[in-house]
Amino acid sequence: PDRDAVARWREDFPILSERVHGKPLVYLDNGATTQKPATVIEAERRYYEHTNSNVHRGVHLLSQRATETYEAARARIARFINAARPEEIVYVRGTTEAINLVAQSDVRPRVAPGDEILISAMEHHSNIVPWQIVCEQTGARLVVVPIDDRGVLDIAAYERMIGERTRIVALTHVSNALGTINPVARLIEIAHARGVPVLLDGAQAIAHLPVDVRALDCDFYAFSGHKVYGPTGIGVLYAKADRLEAMPPWQGGGDMIRSVTFERTTYNAIPWKFEAGTPNIAGAIALAAALDYVDAIGVDVIGAHEAALLAYATDAMRALPRVRLIGTADHKAGIVSFVHEDVHAHDVGTILDHHGVAARAGHHCAMPVMQRFGVPATVRASFALYNKREDIDALVAAMTEVEEVFGR
Ligand code: PMP
Repeated sequence: PDRDAVARWREDFPILSERVHGKPLVYLDNGATTQKPATVIEAERRYYEHTNSNVHRGVHLLSQRATETYEAARARIARFINAARPEEIVYVRGTTEAINLVAQSDVRPRVAPGDEILISAMEHHSNIVPWQIVCEQTGARLVVVPIDDRGVLDIAAYERMIGERTRIVALTHVSNALGTINPVARLIEIAHARGVPVLLDGAQAIAHLPVDVRALDCDFYAFSGHKVYGPTGIGVLYAKADRLEAMPPWQGGGDMIRSVTFERTTYNAIPWKFEAGTPNIAGAIALAAALDYVDAIGVDVIGAHEAALLAYATDAMRALPRVRLIGTADHKAGIVSFVHEDVHAHDVGTILDHHGVAARAGHHCAMPVMQRFGVPATVRASFALYNKREDIDALVAAMTEVEEVFGR
């Protein structure tokens, strides 16, 4: 995309005209959450102004309209990731809830003491802790595939570590702390050759690269609406229909049942048997609007734009004294994680903030990644479609002040 295209996209995001500490906002914390285009904000507003009603309940017109729009959003999401059917899309709160649902409903009932759950050393806590809970509940073992000094998964080790007792492989598609893009198609092929199902954590992939769950042949794919220009509180678990059919419900309540007596309750069909209680209706509808927005530009176009920003930012950061990049894989999404050898990440983050630069400083919910690289925290700049080269220039200018204030 040319500069004019990026400038036009920026106009779609009202928050980008905010000022912070008297400076124009430079938003480089997209890994944490993305900003929302006016169409998404408008979709929520339109829903509450014209449609608001509970779904799957009423015979009245608004309820029917709400149900239709909510279910149309499900079909929209299915199309975005090329799922075979809308029923393969389970609405959840976000990636975290999606992974917990798979852990408790699919995996927990079929693991025994000594069985293994395979993850990698670059996972977010939300793809670690739900499995540790299952391990505690069942006596299963968590097995962790190592990564190298660039932040690349050790595929030879992966092949070795998938064994007789592996019951699930759960891997991130893109690392939030390092930016690494995993070769997921190949990793799935390897697991499937041994009969092991695969869950992909797509939180950091969904807004940045095309995702085709059928081409990947993944068994589960989890993502959060808020990381793909949609609202918080809505997310997606994709699962193959036959897996969903076989999974027991995890939460009970209204909407997930077919009939209830005190003696016996029968459950609703998929995906509704996993959606107990009144859902985030407005969120689902606005998420569909976000996917419309992304598709109108093209996720491949967005990815190419972010790749150019990544190359520019990587060169710029490498030129700074005492700055070290963490995560230097060849295949990376638009994430630059770094440390200053003399200054704690939080101090760097504070100076950046005073320059209007919003970046993340911390462990990024990936403490084992920090331990792997021997750092307490990193500063992370993560890109989205509305970022421009000047944003990176602002980051670099602020880093120059970090050096002046704290450098030795
Ligand atoms: N996995 C990865 C790789 C992430 O980056 C995140 C969010 N930082 C999550 C999972 C969790 O997403 P959420 O908090 O929206 O559930």
